[in-house]
Amino acid sequence: MNVLNGFELAKQCRAELAEKVKKMPRAPKLAVILAGDDPASAVYVRNKEKAAAEVGIESLVVRLEKTTRDELLRLIGKLNGDDGVDGILVQLPLPAGIDENAVLQAIDPAKDVDGFHPLNLGRLMIGEPAPVACTPKGCMKLIHQARRDLTGLNAVVVGRSVIVGKPMAQLLLRENCTVTTAHSKTRDLAGLCKTADILVAAVGKPRFVQADWVKDGAIVIDVGINRLPDGKLCGDVDFDACAPKCQAITPVPKGVGPMTIAMLLENTVEACEAALTGRNIGDITLEEV
Ligand code: NDP
Repeated sequence: MNVLNGFELAKQCRAELAEKVKKMPRAPKLAVILAGDDPASAVYVRNKEKAAAEVGIESLVVRLEKTTRDELLRLIGKLNGDDGVDGILVQLPLPAGIDENAVLQAIDPAKDVDGFHPLNLGRLMIGEPAPVACTPKGCMKLIHQARRDLTGLNAVVVGRSVIVGKPMAQLLLRENCTVTTAHSKTRDLAGLCKTADILVAAVGKPRFVQADWVKDGAIVIDVGINRLPDGKLCGDVDFDACAPKCQAITPVPKGVGPMTIAMLLENTVEACEAALTGRNIGDITLEEV
C-alpha cells in the first residue's frame, strides 16, 4: 500500500512554480477577499498568503469584517479592472445573507483562480480549457502518483458539491473513467463504493468510509477535513482500517489539503501567463510558462 504524500508533492509543485515565477517578466499577483470574522477562514487565508510568498506570488489580502453584497461586487469590479491583479479569490463561506453565487459570478472568468465561475465550470463540462477548481485538480495529481492511465476504471465520487464533487467527477470522466457521483440520497452507498477502482470521499463526516466499503487494490482519495473533539484532524475515510486494502490512499492531514493550496498557486501563475500573452488561462500549460 502506497500512502500518497500530498505534503511532499505540494512542496515539489511549489518548488517548480517558484522556478517558473523567477523567469516571468513580473510577479503574478493574487487578490484574496476575506469577508466576515470566521477564524478558520482567517487561518486558510494566512496559509495561502504564506504559500504565495514562498513561490514569489505577490498577494493582496482585503479584509472586510463587516460588508455587504454591493460592497463586495464593487471591490471585485475594481480588481477585475486592475491589470496588475491576475487572480481573484473570495474566501468562502461569506457572511450569512450574502449570495455567494452572485459574488463568485462577478469575478472575471480569466481571473477565476478557484475555478468556481459558471463559465469555467461549463468549460470543464464541455471539455474546453479552463481554470479548474483547486481541490479536484490536486486530487487528480495525487491519483496520477498512483496510476498514469485511468482509462476504463470505475470511479465513485461521494459528494456532489460544486467546489469538489462535481468538478472531480468531470475530471475523472475526462480521463475515461466510468464515474458515479454519490450523495446523501444514494442507495446502498457501501455496495457502490465497493465497485470503485478510484474512490473519492468529499462528504465532511469523520471516518465515514469503512474498510468493508473499499475494493481490494483501490485508490482512495480522502478530501474530508474534520475536527475531532480532541482537536485532532481526521478525514472522511477510516484510514487505519482502509489503508491495508488500498493500492494507494491519501492521509489526513498531509494529503489533499496541501495540494489544494499548491493548485491555487498554479492557477495564479497560469492566469498571469495568460494575461501576459493575451491567451485563455486554460490554454496555458505550466511547461510553457
Ligand atoms: P458539502 O457539505 O458542500 O458537500 C458534502 C456532500 O456530501 C454533499 O453532496 C452531501 O450530499 C454528501 N453527503 C452528506 N452526507 C452523506 C451521506 N450520509 N452519504 C453520502 N453522501 C453524503 O462539502 P464540500 O464538498 O465543500 O466538502 C466536503 C469535505 O471536504 C468537507 O470535510 C470539507 O471540509 C472538505 N474540504 C477539503 C478541502 C481540502 O482542501 N482538503 C477543500 C474543500 C473541502 P447531498 O448533496 O445529498 O446533501
